[in-house]
Amino acid sequence: MFISTLDLFKVGIGPSSSHTMGPMSAAYMFREYLNSHFLDQIKPTWQVCCTLKGSLAHTGKGHATDLAIVMGLHGYLPTELSHLDIDVLSASLMKRGRLILDNACTLKFNVVENLIFDKEETLSQHPNGMVFKLFDAEGMEQHSEVYFSIGGGFVNTASEISALEAPINMQSLEAYPYPFDSANKMIAMSISSGLSISEMKQGNELSLVKNKSLAAKELDRKVTEVWQVMTACIQRGLDVEGVLPGGLKIKRRAKNLYQMLQSQPELSNMNDYLCAYAMAVNEENAAGHVVVTAPTNGAAGVIPAVLYYFLQHENGDDACVHDFFHTAAAIGGLIKHRSSISGAEVGCQGEVGAASSMAAAGLCAIKGGNVKQVENAAEIALEHHLGMTCDPVNGLVQVPCIERNGFGAIKAYTAASLALRGSGEHFMSLDNCIEAMKQTGLEMSIKYKETSLGGLALSHTEC
Ligand code: SF4
Repeated sequence: MFISTLDLFKVGIGPSSSHTMGPMSAAYMFREYLNSHFLDQIKPTWQVCCTLKGSLAHTGKGHATDLAIVMGLHGYLPTELSHLDIDVLSASLMKRGRLILDNACTLKFNVVENLIFDKEETLSQHPNGMVFKLFDAEGMEQHSEVYFSIGGGFVNTASEISALEAPINMQSLEAYPYPFDSANKMIAMSISSGLSISEMKQGNELSLVKNKSLAAKELDRKVTEVWQVMTACIQRGLDVEGVLPGGLKIKRRAKNLYQMLQSQPELSNMNDYLCAYAMAVNEENAAGHVVVTAPTNGAAGVIPAVLYYFLQHENGDDACVHDFFHTAAAIGGLIKHRSSISGAEVGCQGEVGAASSMAAAGLCAIKGGNVKQVENAAEIALEHHLGMTCDPVNGLVQVPCIERNGFGAIKAYTAASLALRGSGEHFMSLDNCIEAMKQTGLEMSIKYKETSLGGLALSHTEC
């Protein structure tokens, strides 16, 4: 299956790709359906209701799912928010009790009455379900749509998710020149074609367009933009102090940590810097500010921290940025295709674990690793996240998420280093490791899959 580099790395807002960005996109889709099918019928006495199911109901408040639904219904998409003041916009929208559709007709949507957190029922197809309904003045249902937020900001309708063997949203690889859907095939195709993973990935990205040189420039421009947003996010996070929203009173630490490292260089090391950079991003994410999914919001700090450290501290060349992202995306695509990148489906092994694996592969590639070493780096990083649960305290993407990204970055760097010191031959293949992750996720209790019903989420004592 094909998944684009630009689908895995999407600009949006925090704190969660599955609980914030996905629901915002789903609400926008429902709004667009009303715009295209009901504009001439809707009256001011009609209303929209949204019911959140499963993990979205349990941890939606902490993940700003309510705000995301409101923003989407008002016509905002995650990708269009980077130049807006999110705090001001959200304060204004949450107070409104009505939606305005394209022809200026209005209908009721009051977040207190019309947004329901249904913790009793989880839809069978996926843990992150949303049911949108349109009611007329008499309370008769005029239209209903079910959407699923399947991780990484992707959304499926009920028919789409039912038609898929696994809850994924990708195109068949048949039409692409390098149709690798496993790590073993990726290695074989790289060796037979003489191309790197990044070159094959870019070949696939450009294969379906007529004007390849124009499309190649556009792809480069968009990847550069992704890196610029990530860099700006790190730098903002290193420059801001204060308490994160949500009620846990968690203080931002990245700025203070970074200042300590700079003032005491003899006492600072690579691990400290990786933590500072990753935590800077995840503190921005927890604040609901602009981040890039990598491959999710909760794991958004790992990949930028690794690349930023390489460029800033190891004299990395900016020219390697594109190879880093395309290699990382190839690995992320395999994990998403063969397992999942959603904490609600497989726990945190699918979020920080996947991000660490992708970062390790990207770093190994730009440090000169061959395809077998890159696959080895991805496998090592993923292997040492297997079984990691998702148990965010109070449903907020703060504890353990912020620090965990720092550790994901450290593991990625170590995995790339280990792989580069080896020949590429190794015992456990990436394909087998991804399969183990999938099985572990299937057998993991629902308590540890983004519901905040177990683990650290229950070990927290209010004070
Ligand atoms: S614990 Fe991991 S998967 Fe769960 S919300 Fe935090 S970063 Fe995401």
